[in-house]
Amino acid sequence: MTRKTFPRPTPIVYARGDGIGPEIMDATLKILEAAEAELDLHEIEIGQKVYERGVTAGIEPESWDVLRRTGVFLKAPITTPQGKGFKSLNVTTRKSLGLFANVRPCRSYHPFTRSLHPGMNIVVIRENEEDTYAGIEHRQTQEVTQCLKLISRPGCEKVVRYAFDYAERSGRRKVTCMSKDNIMKITDGLFHRVFDEIAADYPDIENEHMIVDIGSALVADSPEQFDVIVTPNLYGDIISDIAAQVAGSVGLAGSANIGESAAMFEAIHGSAPAIAGKNIANPSGLLHGAVMMLMHIDQTEVAERVRNAWLRTIEDGVHTADIRLADNLNPVVGTDAFAQAVIERLGDAPRRIRSASFGHGHEHAAPPVRPKQEKAIVGVDVFLDWDEPGRSPDALGESLSRVDGDGLKLKMITNRGVKVYPGGLPETFCTDHWRCRFVADADGATVSHAQVISLLGRVAEAGFDFIKTEHLCTFDGEIGYSLGQGE
Ligand code: NAD
Repeated sequence: MTRKTFPRPTPIVYARGDGIGPEIMDATLKILEAAEAELDLHEIEIGQKVYERGVTAGIEPESWDVLRRTGVFLKAPITTPQGKGFKSLNVTTRKSLGLFANVRPCRSYHPFTRSLHPGMNIVVIRENEEDTYAGIEHRQTQEVTQCLKLISRPGCEKVVRYAFDYAERSGRRKVTCMSKDNIMKITDGLFHRVFDEIAADYPDIENEHMIVDIGSALVADSPEQFDVIVTPNLYGDIISDIAAQVAGSVGLAGSANIGESAAMFEAIHGSAPAIAGKNIANPSGLLHGAVMMLMHIDQTEVAERVRNAWLRTIEDGVHTADIRLADNLNPVVGTDAFAQAVIERLGDAPRRIRSASFGHGHEHAAPPVRPKQEKAIVGVDVFLDWDEPGRSPDALGESLSRVDGDGLKLKMITNRGVKVYPGGLPETFCTDHWRCRFVADADGATVSHAQVISLLGRVAEAGFDFIKTEHLCTFDGEIGYSLGQGE
């Protein structure tokens, strides 16, 4: 895959943010300058002051132009205003700029800082745009609500390839995919399948798949066994918080949001208003965001220099109050003094913690163009809101069978995915939400849109309240829908 190239000096947009934001941004920029990062810096304003001017997005419209032009954003934390009407700047930026991957390294700096897992050093890469986070939800009946989980092939391809590229460039040896494809065979199954396909392009990097429940338990219990984890949005949201927490580095971690034409880098902590303006905040989280930014813009030597100087500073016991252990007899330092200590160590390597060594990755052949698949409709699921006394599936099935005709026949009814007609069990609890599967009444026959519309007409005429339909499709003859439990 052709990677984007960046001019030198690289245009960067930065924002000082709120609370401790300005202090930690100044400290970070001072270190980057001393490390001779080649940056062409442009400042924009975000956060509280912008919200107070009545701009509900927290960022002025003209700032988007600068952001889109430069494509690289180093962002200090902001204070998110309480109350309705304000939009989360992070969510807006992620969605507007198409930032498809969230990258969060979580590691322990034992014995210099507190950690439950001394040997832990993992990176969680979370898909950022799809899954249940598309925000498509509906209340469909009195009792039943629904959230659509959307997983696309291009969405999977982008994030999985990014994970392998990241592993290659950061000298990591293994990528673990986590999904729940034993249950969600089509959506999570696609994520897993794409992972297997792309893994084949990276023979030097180990790959494995884990079911997300046991996988997350292992992240909490023995994270030393992981290196890079790639996973869909919802699982990634949870796993990245577990990982940051058990690493003990919540205050030290940076994160990146990566898109095809833009990327945003930040600390994972917030604006810490209680300690703002006191010169005591730890700038390490934002500095780690900046190190990821340097890797992203291919200034890897500078990234290594900054990272190694930071590791050496931590090893030398120069700590801000938030991470200082009781047995550290060195004086506590503030934000400026910590930054100065890192600057003094530029060019040094850590003595005990493995030093950072970033690579450049390889160009990979463009993915094959996929031929368009032959799509055919072979049936339709009609969802009903039906709440007759007794909620008898047999009664529903018998009256609904009367709408059979015009090439379609009722095959089964499920309630919350469990087959209840024909031949259901009386013990199965039924809600007021029924999925009624109609299929072509001749083997191998396909179904037209007109047949589906005519079926819906008959369903409505018979007095049923249909909520929605889902076509049952095949793609090159392969079934593209799940079977009901017990079907
Ligand atoms: P927080 O991360 O700001 O603070 C949690 C605790 O950690 C506090 O005790 C704080 O003093 C401490 N802390 C955080 N960063 C520190 C640092 N660099 N050095 C030393 N101590 C540090 O979380 P919060 O209090 O829940 O949120 C405060 C504000 O930040 C809220 O308005 C929240 O919405 C916002 N926030 C913004 C972002 C972002 O912009 N990306 C992320 C999270 C929270």
